[in-house]
Amino acid sequence: MGSAKLTIDLDAITANWRALDAMTNCETAAVVKAGAYGLGIDRVVKVLAKAGARKFFVAIAEEGALVRQVLGQGVDIYVFGGHMRGDTDMIHDLSLTPMLNSLDQLTRHFEALPNAPFGIQLDTGMNRLGMELAEWDAVRDIVLTQTPVLIMSHLACADAPDHAMNSQQLTQFRQMTAGIKAPLSLAATGGILLGQQYHFDLTRPGIGLYGGQPFNQAQPVVNLSLPVIQCRDLVVGETVGYANSWVTNTRATIATLSGGYADGLLRALSNGAMLWADDVACPLVGRVSMDLITVDISHLHKVPDRLEILGPQQTVDALAQKAGTIGYEILTSLGNRYSRGYAGDYSR
Ligand SMILES: *Cc1c(COP(=O)(O)O)cnc(C)c1O
Repeated sequence: MGSAKLTIDLDAITANWRALDAMTNCETAAVVKAGAYGLGIDRVVKVLAKAGARKFFVAIAEEGALVRQVLGQGVDIYVFGGHMRGDTDMIHDLSLTPMLNSLDQLTRHFEALPNAPFGIQLDTGMNRLGMELAEWDAVRDIVLTQTPVLIMSHLACADAPDHAMNSQQLTQFRQMTAGIKAPLSLAATGGILLGQQYHFDLTRPGIGLYGGQPFNQAQPVVNLSLPVIQCRDLVVGETVGYANSWVTNTRATIATLSGGYADGLLRALSNGAMLWADDVACPLVGRVSMDLITVDISHLHKVPDRLEILGPQQTVDALAQKAGTIGYEILTSLGNRYSRGYAGDYSR
């Protein structure tokens, strides 16, 4: 088989959700935007619902429609992007809950769907989504007569526990929600780890469910191994790959593996990453091509059928670091050419 094999451990996702849930005394939702961070929204929401998650967050209404299709009624689906023009039918027909971010969105929602549930997103300093203090002050009393089902904000620096921004945003969130009865939410994965004062009524972990930092105790979720297509011996002074970016200084055995930047093996990994034959590291040499990478396996006793790039030896965060990025980007870049297997799925 020429395709790389991506295995996603659904039991580990469940265990991670439970572990994050056990760190708080409040309800724990699940953030499943971007296809559950690239891992497959349908499989992931099913196991999380089975584990007890009743609230799911997505980025845009179309993603919410998918979650509703898979889970049916009985769960709440919140849309971070709010109520956009053209979303009204989807929000109404599929009972999605938009997190309203601006006066424009408030007006649109109240006019189009006067009695439909909504939440409010407040900006406490990140300057990305949500109403700012002055806007909120102007509409707060009217909004509260319509009973929002959730009021939330998002932390900009929660993965850095000592960052002053965390307590600044906490103070701002408390001020903006003082005296409000509606359920409140501030913490994503990083915020959960900051401690109880950040938890409020509902937490919204994403990356921690999928085995990523800053949730250090997360169980690893993904395993990715690439098949060896071809193998060759080089003498001193030969080059490998585009632009001759790697040159042998001894004899070398080079394996060519199926998988490249079109599969999310970022080109920035060129001449940087490691692949693993069980517990033996093999350096990726030369440039990452669209569909192929080349690996120095000179020190192996026999040519392996496949090499691992994500697994116990190399987490998504370890690989991310080699490409100068974060685990989130490694996960959401995982390609759709992989043959995907789901461990721990007992439903089929
Ligand atoms: C993506 C996102 C989350 C989840 O964040 P993680 O760091 O993945 O836990 C929570 N809230 C908002 C608003 C988000 O955009």
